[in-house]
Amino acid sequence: MTEPNIESLTEAEATPATTVGAESTAAPKAAPTPLPLAGLRGRCPRCETGSLFEGWVGFAPRCRACGLALDGFNVGDGPAAFLILILGAFVTALALFLQLAAHPPFWVHILLWVPLTTVLVILSLRASKAALLILEYRHQAREGRIAGQGSGVGRQSGGRQSGGRQSGDGGGRAS
Ligand SMILES: [Zn+2]
Repeated sequence: MTEPNIESLTEAEATPATTVGAESTAAPKAAPTPLPLAGLRGRCPRCETGSLFEGWVGFAPRCRACGLALDGFNVGDGPAAFLILILGAFVTALALFLQLAAHPPFWVHILLWVPLTTVLVILSLRASKAALLILEYRHQAREGRIAGQGSGVGRQSGGRQSGGRQSGDGGGRAS
């Protein structure tokens, strides 16, 4: 007698729970794309359909799909400086290795490393700039703003717990 009852209970509980879950996942996005993949794609962090870029490595002023303003984000030159060091060391190591291993004529080096460096710089600069912008969007990092009303709300809720009425608190206990 108890077993079918339990089964019917769990089924009845399960159906509203799943519908509630489906509703609640619609409001906040459940699982965002992993950052390296999102950076390689270079898509808008809000709608994930429009491209971030206009041209080779420049950001578009706003997303063409959802209209998210992209010029408000400030990625800066951080990725470029970082990539110069990494890619410079990488390509130099490759060139040294080829020179020592095969002793090719100099024009081989020019034909190999100039296009390779260009392609690597453009691809990695796009990916890293997109990744930084997506990070800024996800953490809502913007230029500094003064938070005016934020602390007042916290004080109000704290005061209610201890006192109840602001004016009657001190007077009532004294009399
Ligand atoms: Zn968008």
